[in-house]
Amino acid sequence: MNPLSDEALRLKSIFESSVDGIIIINMRGIIESANPSACAQFQYTEEELVGNNIHILMPSPHREQHDGYLKSYQKTGEKKIIGIGREVEGQRKDGSRFPFNLSVSEVVMNDKTIYTGFIHDISDLKNAQEKLIELTKNLETKVKKRTVDLAEAINAIEATNRDLKKEIKLRKKAEEDAQNALLKELELGELKSRFVSMASHEFRTPLTGILSSISLISKYDMPEQEEKKQKHVKRIKSAVQNLTSILNDFLSLDKLHAGKINCQPEWFNIVQFMHTMIEESEILKKAGQQIDLLLENFSSNEEFYTDKHILKNILLNLISNAIKYSEEYDPIKLILKKDAELIRIEVIDQGIGIPLEDQKRMFERFFRAKNASNIQGTGLGLSIVFEYINLLQGRISFESVEKIGSTFTLEIPHYKLKMK
Ligand code: ADP
Repeated sequence: MNPLSDEALRLKSIFESSVDGIIIINMRGIIESANPSACAQFQYTEEELVGNNIHILMPSPHREQHDGYLKSYQKTGEKKIIGIGREVEGQRKDGSRFPFNLSVSEVVMNDKTIYTGFIHDISDLKNAQEKLIELTKNLETKVKKRTVDLAEAINAIEATNRDLKKEIKLRKKAEEDAQNALLKELELGELKSRFVSMASHEFRTPLTGILSSISLISKYDMPEQEEKKQKHVKRIKSAVQNLTSILNDFLSLDKLHAGKINCQPEWFNIVQFMHTMIEESEILKKAGQQIDLLLENFSSNEEFYTDKHILKNILLNLISNAIKYSEEYDPIKLILKKDAELIRIEVIDQGIGIPLEDQKRMFERFFRAKNASNIQGTGLGLSIVFEYINLLQGRISFESVEKIGSTFTLEIPHYKLKMK
């Protein structure tokens, strides 16, 4: 055997120690040599490989077609792998497969051509790639799931938010209601205590008057003293009337507050009704005071449809004020008018009038103008009138000039007015 040259020894050692597999085949695909790494990769011994067709290292369908590939290349020279390299799959002796990068070079010698294949196992790379792909997939699924979870969480938070908002609204409403109830309670309490202090003062004057009149009457036992007696009887009557009206005011106020007064309209002759009002006010009148009723655009047999009792309360209040705030012999006029939609009742006096600066507070409870302090009163009447006229869906207004007189005007819608 010829000893190998240095060059040949060097090549042999490269061939044998190469980490990549190296397999040399001839033109027919028969393995001429395979290095240890190639043998290990395919799980064959060198003896098993050498002399066998290279296609035993390939999975189907290449195993069956490889001879054809070789022939076709040798015929056409069209390169599919040679000099190019590609990623292919190999089949081990036990049938398992593994991926590798294959680069093939063609060596043309004097008498023959051989092909050298370099096999670089990329299983680890592939595994790593597959793992990466799987990890990426897992990550994507997780992200998707988290996104769904997040969306659900956001929805849940939004729903909770909505519920909270609703609850806050309900709570606010409840708080407002409680506050309103408390305010009403306080207002009522304040009203009652103001009434008690006002009543104790307002009751004392007529009661003292009644007492002194009674003691005087008992002394007038001579027939010529009859006139004086009657004067005191009248005084007593008027004082009692005064007390009754204070009590009535308070009862009205209480009823109005409790919402106990309903509007119960009925048909009645309004002109006759006005005359009754004048008669009922008779007892309150001062000496020489005359109350006249004037009809404008109104016939005496006209019927009006409203709550008679509420209207009576309103008018008696306004007429008694006109009497109270006028001097003896001052005339008082009631005017009854109507137009297309409403009837208008004016109560006109020539009394002390209302100072301009007090006018805007006239309908406040317990408010009394500063020029009225010497005249008995509670400051309740007009505030009650105001609430009553609202019940009739009407309106009250007034015009007044101090020391000249006042005109209070009621406007009440007449849904129905008919002739009898
Ligand atoms: P009162 O007459 O008991 O004081 P009202 O509520 O009826 O209570 O009236 C409130 C105030 O309005 C009176 O105190 C008075 O100052 C003023 N007022 C009402 N009517 C007249 C009127 N016809 N003339 C002058 N002032 C009036």
